[in-house]
Amino acid sequence: MTAGPGRPVPGAGGPAVRHRPVGTLAGVTIVPDTKDWTWVLHRPCEECGFDTRSVPREQIAALLLANAERWPGVLADAERARRRTRPDRWSLLEYACHVRDVLRLGDYRLGLMLTEEDPTYPGWDQDAAAIEDRYGDQEPTAVAAELVAAARRIAASLATVSDAQWERTGVRGDGVRFTVESFARYVAHDTVHHLYDVTGERHR
Ligand SMILES: [Zn+2]
Repeated sequence: MTAGPGRPVPGAGGPAVRHRPVGTLAGVTIVPDTKDWTWVLHRPCEECGFDTRSVPREQIAALLLANAERWPGVLADAERARRRTRPDRWSLLEYACHVRDVLRLGDYRLGLMLTEEDPTYPGWDQDAAAIEDRYGDQEPTAVAAELVAAARRIAASLATVSDAQWERTGVRGDGVRFTVESFARYVAHDTVHHLYDVTGERHR
């Protein structure tokens, strides 16, 4: 995709197309994404091939786990993982850090929705995170393990969701309201899309 380094919507996640510069990382201009990816809840993504509606909600956890298991292989070659092939495109390592954080943040927001009444998610600036947390300097092996662990945590949380709880709600900083179910689907697309970003393999 045309994704630059970094993420999309400040919030639940979504692949990135960046527009305005927010900062620099190792002399590279990072442009944040301002695009809302909630349309992936309503139609297939032509880029990664994933239709979020195609998966029964009870199988989203398994999808997240299967996706996570691909990332250690993506990061296996540490030198390759750290390399940016283009200055405006994230390295494999940076994508992996981002997906790990999407999963961590997703589990946190899921917890809010399950325990509070229609909470507004505290904000997360995904672009600032990539810079402040120095994604490019992290250790690929550690990031791979953290990503898998984060996927297991959110999958375990999703496994506890009862029929009624799938309809609980939460609101993103930009006013978009999710249910537990739509939020889980949104996060699932984010991970699938970024695996496509790094492997070029469309979702089947
Ligand atoms: Zn996609």
